Amino acid sequence: MALIDGCIFCRIIRGEIPAFKLIDDEQVVAFMDINPANPGHALVIPKFHARDLYEMPDEWLAPVIAAARRVARAVTATLDPDGLNLLQANGPGAAQSVEHFHLHVLPRNLGDDLSL
Ligand code: 5GP
Ligand code: ZN
Repeated sequence: MALIDGCIFCRIIRGEIPAFKLIDDEQVVAFMDINPANPGHALVIPKFHARDLYEMPDEWLAPVIAAARRVARAVTATLDPDGLNLLQANGPGAAQSVEHFHLHVLPRNLGDDLSL
């Protein structure tokens, strides 16, 4: 399925909800997280509604990860964190709160609480 009504990230893709976008190309949108765990915390999503990793078609994985690496490089060049996590949650037990596949690009600094 391409995009669906009632999905907050599909609505960001369609421009119905504002977001600070870093990338908006044919396949991917990257934007700043509204509730950042650290400065520079961004999200990267496919312009395809898949609930989680298991629903992601293989051909959508590469563009999303490539975009995440572009964002990671830009954030690192700008903020110079001590490290950076790519995170991705599947299901309520993993604290997935938005059911549209997304990668967190999350800059980290020494001393951070890494329990997230
Ligand atoms: P999850 O918990 O599903 O892995 O991550 C969802 C992320 O989406 C959270 O970090 C949350 O702050 C972010 N988020 C939820 N709604 C919005 C929104 O409307 N705009 C933006 N920019 N981020 C959102
Ligand atoms: Zn969606």
